[in-house]
Amino acid sequence: MSPIVIAIDGTSASGKSTNAKLVSKSLGYTYVDTGAMYRTLAWYCLKEKIDIHDPKKVGAACRKWKTTLACVEAQVRLLVDGYYPTKEIRTAETSAAVPHIAAVPKVRDWMKQQQRSCTQFGNLVMEGRDIGSVVFPETDFKFYLDATLAERERRRLAEGVDENLAERDHRDSQRATAPLMIPLGAIVINNSGLTAEETTRQIVTQIRQRLPTSRA
Ligand code: C5P
Repeated sequence: MSPIVIAIDGTSASGKSTNAKLVSKSLGYTYVDTGAMYRTLAWYCLKEKIDIHDPKKVGAACRKWKTTLACVEAQVRLLVDGYYPTKEIRTAETSAAVPHIAAVPKVRDWMKQQQRSCTQFGNLVMEGRDIGSVVFPETDFKFYLDATLAERERRRLAEGVDENLAERDHRDSQRATAPLMIPLGAIVINNSGLTAEETTRQIVTQIRQRLPTSRA
């Protein structure tokens, strides 16, 4: 039986991580944060002083860095030389750098291969920007989360992060390769007025209705 993949895409700070984690716990699936994978490459480029505005250099870095995928407590991690940069990938500097490296076609190819190979860890809940459109376009389980910009900014500020979300979304939606979009067949949930639990309940209900009875 091939693993089931739940794709959760959406704008920045739309609650993808919170909900993808809750959904994965509720179903007992493995959680994959693909944003963390792109953030890790951005962090690596900054650390190695690789020009993030030079697609050739970024593409070359992606071919040569030494990485492994590990599954720790039902969450997939991309390790660099055995190290997972938990805190470093969440800094404002890394956040601002990611959309630049994420627009490089060679980087997207590399990430897509890694993300597809995550099925080695079983059924997945994978969150990102292009999961339902590019990484697993064939899955029957696609969700797209969004909320008003004001609400998303409020959520980030509550986490102590003050960043230009509109600019990041603009870059992510305008890039030529695998832009942020509502994947064909995705269920769109605007969760501006919903709690995470309410959003997760909607997602899990939809999944259970669609799962073949043998796998529910
Ligand atoms: O989800 P998160 O905010 O951590 O993503 C950080 C950045 O990584 C996004 O703004 C985007 O530039 C990039 N990304 C992407 N495709 C994905 C996941 C993230 O381009 N599937």
